[in-house]
Amino acid sequence: MVRYLASPIPNANGPHVSDPRSGEILESDINWYHNVMTLLRNWFFVQTAAINEDARGVQFKDEVMGRLIRFVSSHEVGHTLGLPHNMGSSVAYSVEDLRDPEFTKKYGTAPSIMDYARFNYIAQPGDGDVALMPEIGTYDKYAIAWGYKPILDKSAVEEKQTLDSWILKHQNDPMYRFGSQQSGVIDPSSQTEDLGDDAVLASQYGIANLKRIVPNLIEWTAEDGKDYEDLDDLYGQVLSQYNRYMGHVTANIGGVYQYYKTYDQEGPVYTHVDTDRQKEAMSFLQKELFTTPEWLIDQNIFNKIEFDGNLERVRNFQERTMNNLLDFGRMARLMENSEINGNEAYSLLNMMTDLRTGVWSELNRGRSIDLYRRNLQRAYLERMEYLMTEKQSAIPARFRSWVKRSNIDVANSDIRPIVRGELVTLQGNIRNAMNRSNDKLTRYHLQDALKRIDLILNPIAKG
Ligand SMILES: [Zn+2]
Repeated sequence: MVRYLASPIPNANGPHVSDPRSGEILESDINWYHNVMTLLRNWFFVQTAAINEDARGVQFKDEVMGRLIRFVSSHEVGHTLGLPHNMGSSVAYSVEDLRDPEFTKKYGTAPSIMDYARFNYIAQPGDGDVALMPEIGTYDKYAIAWGYKPILDKSAVEEKQTLDSWILKHQNDPMYRFGSQQSGVIDPSSQTEDLGDDAVLASQYGIANLKRIVPNLIEWTAEDGKDYEDLDDLYGQVLSQYNRYMGHVTANIGGVYQYYKTYDQEGPVYTHVDTDRQKEAMSFLQKELFTTPEWLIDQNIFNKIEFDGNLERVRNFQERTMNNLLDFGRMARLMENSEINGNEAYSLLNMMTDLRTGVWSELNRGRSIDLYRRNLQRAYLERMEYLMTEKQSAIPARFRSWVKRSNIDVANSDIRPIVRGELVTLQGNIRNAMNRSNDKLTRYHLQDALKRIDLILNPIAKG
């Protein structure tokens, strides 16, 4: 049954009870909270409004909302039939395919409706009548057949050979791939809320579309006699979507792919993301995040929704991704990759050098440093201090079984020598640049940065 819950929770789920001996599903239902519609409105707006007139408002036409509800309810029915999320599905399509009307009409936005593949944020104005939604796809039909198609006159044990042969038949076809849901992303090809096989390119298209939405936010949310709450909400959605892109790209740095295999299949299960892709991810972050995203800063919007907050907001989202990038587990994987693959690999040292030169790029040219960038540079120093003093936090017992991460003894790894070395280099660069700027605040900031670095390298004993 589908149960409607008159509740403000913006979600839906499809739990089942199964017999632990056989896996047979004994009972199943869908819980449908009222505010799923808010969730759908937000996603469809922020992911498609740039190219889709139907999404340019706060209240969609019934036919549009009905179609969106059909998408979520199909996904929930997948759960009731026993399908888990398949986050490794959307990577099957190339980013350019998602701009193709013919392709998307035939295949939707991912081969499985059980992915968190949302709406087509990649298609650009002028691409034509591109399909925007995920559909029940190749993977779903295959998985349901595997679970339900009768295999006559065979015992459960005898069936296995037939079932295995169905898997092997499609073993290297990404349309049939399963990738599990991750808490703490290690495999960048199995992420939530992403589309296509190239996070950098997909996110560039996504950002190009967000840039088209922001200048229209006021017009698309407007209604006489109404306050600016919807404007506030949908600006927040733009920011969340932008943050998702930062997450999708960051996961490629220190990423390790996981492609399930059994003994009778060839090749490795785990492979490191190749160096070019990791480097590209780092330049994306420098260009789209650490270079202040001016297009997100719109005084026409801010003067209607808040008395202040922009500076802290920019700092917070830059800091969030910087801290994610400088995560101990990610650093551990970068080190292990260079140990295994030598100079071919994108090493921790490569990453730290690229990060420092990008975040402190003004020093080379003796340019003045604006307030956003001063905040960013202090966020960098703060994280460096964290890396020098903290260790990995313990995962609470209730999460331990499903959180994946690389564990590392921070104090006895190469992390601190590398951080120390980077800080010493930075110290020298700041000293050289210090008096080249005519801007007083830049000089004060650099003096302060030198002092902060000195305190990180030579902490005052607390006693
Ligand atoms: Zn689900």
